Amino acid sequence: MPDFRLIPSIESVLVRPAVAAAARRHGRDRVTEAARQAADELRARLRRREPRAPESEAAAAEWIEHRIIALLAAGLALSLTRVINATGVVLHTNLGRAPLAAEAIGCVAEVAAGYANLEYDLDAGERGHRHVHAERLLTSLTGAEAALVANNNAAATLLVLAALAAGREVIVSRGELVEIGGGFRVPDVMSQSGAVMREVGTTNRTRVNDYAAAISDRTALILRVHPSNFRMEGFTERPDLAELAALAHRFSLPLFEDLGSGWLGLEGVDVAALGDEASIRQSLAAGVDLVAVSGDKLLGGPQAGLVVGRRDLIDRVRKHPLMRAVRVDKLTYAALEATLALWAQAPARSHIPTYRMLTMTVDEIERRARAVVARLSGAPSLTCTIIEGVSTVGGGAAPGSAWPTRLIALSLAGVSPDGLERRLRAHSPAVVARIQDQQVVLDLRTVQEDEDAVLADAVSESVQRINAAESDASLSKSPGKTPR
Ligand SMILES: *Cc1c(COP(=O)(O)O)cnc(C)c1O
Repeated sequence: MPDFRLIPSIESVLVRPAVAAAARRHGRDRVTEAARQAADELRARLRRREPRAPESEAAAAEWIEHRIIALLAAGLALSLTRVINATGVVLHTNLGRAPLAAEAIGCVAEVAAGYANLEYDLDAGERGHRHVHAERLLTSLTGAEAALVANNNAAATLLVLAALAAGREVIVSRGELVEIGGGFRVPDVMSQSGAVMREVGTTNRTRVNDYAAAISDRTALILRVHPSNFRMEGFTERPDLAELAALAHRFSLPLFEDLGSGWLGLEGVDVAALGDEASIRQSLAAGVDLVAVSGDKLLGGPQAGLVVGRRDLIDRVRKHPLMRAVRVDKLTYAALEATLALWAQAPARSHIPTYRMLTMTVDEIERRARAVVARLSGAPSLTCTIIEGVSTVGGGAAPGSAWPTRLIALSLAGVSPDGLERRLRAHSPAVVARIQDQQVVLDLRTVQEDEDAVLADAVSESVQRINAAESDASLSKSPGKTPR
């Protein structure tokens, strides 16, 4: 029978100096609750006769005190934390897509810390409009007449459909009724907007005549959706944009394109990794009336949905009540404008992290990989080799893209790749790696240059912890120590 009399009363715990200090900081109720939980946990340990459970009243009181402090700290721990992306997927949606440029972070910090002219016209000294922000840069970079900013591309698409097509028909190819990035399903967005979906063509082939045959006086617009996250091969066909635009315009209908990735397609900016990725400029040049894209994909900015195109249509969309629900805050405008300003100046483009990652040469990655491997050379039982591999764009851009990189392949004697990968994820900051051919691999393409040393330290600390845990485990496995 375990000795539960070791467990101190809650009252006696609360008067211990460290616990009393914690109560002044966290409040007496929260500390009392933590004390009850700690006492319950101790009772359970004693019942299970755990080998390391306290054996005296003093040790039990101390155990509970430590546990209370730990529980209170865990209650304050932030859930969202920094992660080192060593996966080589540049626009990793699960890891927050595009990292921001230093200039963008600076602008965010400045407007976050104080007031800003978000909806205030400084010249007139009176109320202004938040939608003026970013519009000038967006129109000058894309050549569009007007632009608006919503919370993300899904919101932008919903907003456009609601404003221009609620209660009427939207013609869309069956080959474009896609789902993108967990949850963005074109038919669902359509029904939420109140528009009536009019599907035409087949999964693999849709011709301009299919669209033409569906046009009636119920038609509000023609929708085109970029096949962001997949590639169709074989017997496929869809009209080119210019053909579709000509058809729409013949019937005075707008052509709206959900382009997704947001590649600006600026003159002289060629990125081999992107292949023939469609650009906003190309779409507008082909005659598309409104184009919606994400701000945090190839644009390398904050989460946002950007709509660019005809002034009269943008004005109608802006007046819809949903605009208020999907508008963005001053932080988003600050980050977006700063990012767009970098795109507007050729020498500054390399400050945009995603652009730098997309254009970083294999030689540069290999040089950095060697430096990281050199830093890891002291780690016991760890083998690091530099091997050839591929990076991917991700984030619904350039589907099927894969272009050369160098990987650091890690293997730790006696430890599975899964075990090592898990340890790296448990580190702070967490390192997210890939497993390939029974090895943990790190792609420095998506690691920011100033994180190389942090990454190397994270790997060696994780290896040390695994080695320490192994020797602990082998100790406790030695005969006589634990009952079998
Ligand atoms: C990524 C993507 C979306 C979703 O964009 P969010 O900014 O994540 O809302 C919608 N449509 C297409 C074509 C996309 O590529």
